[in-house]
Amino acid sequence: MKRFSFLCGVLILVCAMQQMRLTRLSAQTMTPLYVNFFTHNEERDYCTGQTTDIYCYFPPVAAKSQPCGYQDQTVFLRLRSVLKELADTVRTKGAKWNWESDWVFLAGVRSFDKGDATTAGKNIVKWLAENNSSAVEIDAHAHESSYNYADVAFMLDSLGGKPSKVVGGFTWNFTQGNGGSAYTWMDFDKGIQGWKYPNFTWKPDILWGAAGYNRRRGQTDHTYDVETPGVWRPRDTSETGFKTHDPTKRLVFLGNGYSKANDSSKTAEQIAGEIIAFADSLQQGTKPPTGRSYSYSIDLHQKFWACPGYAARTARVIDLLKPYVQQGRIIWATNTEKVSVWKTQYKEQPNLYPYAQNVVSGIRFDASSGTPNHVSIAPNPASEQVFVQFRLARSERVKISLYNVLGQEVASVMDSELGEGEHTVNIALGHLSLSFLLLRVSGASFSQMQSLQVLR
Ligand SMILES: [Zn+2]
Repeated sequence: MKRFSFLCGVLILVCAMQQMRLTRLSAQTMTPLYVNFFTHNEERDYCTGQTTDIYCYFPPVAAKSQPCGYQDQTVFLRLRSVLKELADTVRTKGAKWNWESDWVFLAGVRSFDKGDATTAGKNIVKWLAENNSSAVEIDAHAHESSYNYADVAFMLDSLGGKPSKVVGGFTWNFTQGNGGSAYTWMDFDKGIQGWKYPNFTWKPDILWGAAGYNRRRGQTDHTYDVETPGVWRPRDTSETGFKTHDPTKRLVFLGNGYSKANDSSKTAEQIAGEIIAFADSLQQGTKPPTGRSYSYSIDLHQKFWACPGYAARTARVIDLLKPYVQQGRIIWATNTEKVSVWKTQYKEQPNLYPYAQNVVSGIRFDASSGTPNHVSIAPNPASEQVFVQFRLARSERVKISLYNVLGQEVASVMDSELGEGEHTVNIALGHLSLSFLLLRVSGASFSQMQSLQVLR
């Protein structure tokens, strides 16, 4: 309480507010946020010319050269070693991960992976399923090009992968699949037949990752995704029907939170800050409504896997969330576990909360936050996280760092190229023990220092 009383001497009002907040927190029932990581091991890789799907990845090979991608043993084995490293990180640190693989990676497993000493002599899929069952759930993922969900589930099963009943990504407002083979997510209800394995029928229970069909472009992309931390039983494939809970339907839709907010190009502080901000908003009781089931999935995007320090950054995200996990405000859970909590603890109460009403919009920045190169921070004082907002007159490299009162840097939050326009950056503060911080935002054309009080 030493630091606290020092703060009280300086800021009586702040302390009064803090006391009120603590009282209110203990008086109400806690609404936790259920969190997991997820990955799509995509069908596409750079042998198709889709070089943007993979970064930090070996010397680039010429597009369309053969063999390449997972069909190349060297590439496959590199990806396999990252997969192993990430599973070790998630498992040893007590987090949860839904690993969702498409066909091509599995074909690589079939061709090249006979198991080795690092995986107890098992292929990586079998090892994930048998030696990581406390941490990793394996879901099928398919783009329905020449193999569908049933084929991927069959392949996972034949490799020893014990696939879940989760559809790892689907089109919510149109068909998926091609030509005469097209079907909608509603067909998952009665089970779909494989295209490569027509004798196999796969009947999943949970829909996750609602990608929207873009009518203008004539394809499913991420423009009209359903962004929600909620869960319900959707009625049909129409715009309103999907967003209507129908308790008579068998399939459950589980939201993934806000996928664009946790893109893997961000720092651990930014990713954890996003999750923490949402967990905090669930304690405030204003919006989103408390007492419902909330879910958030953090993207461990395959295209960044081979970037240096990737597993270490994942470990840091888990460490930053740890204080919240210890308080029960964040709970690690796989997709299937989240749905079972919704069924038992929340008695299937539907939660159609749209992420568009996001927490950042509820935070007030000062009036000049729209002025070019003016840096605004909120809330201040902060407790678990702070948002930094600024507008760049032109694109430039921006560095954000935190300093103690002696001017010594205690954390480097960001050092990256940003485009012109407004930017909002979240910084998680839970791991810092300091009550006073200086926050510096600097670019080639400006440098601003702001003082920040942290309530401890
Ligand atoms: Zn995909």
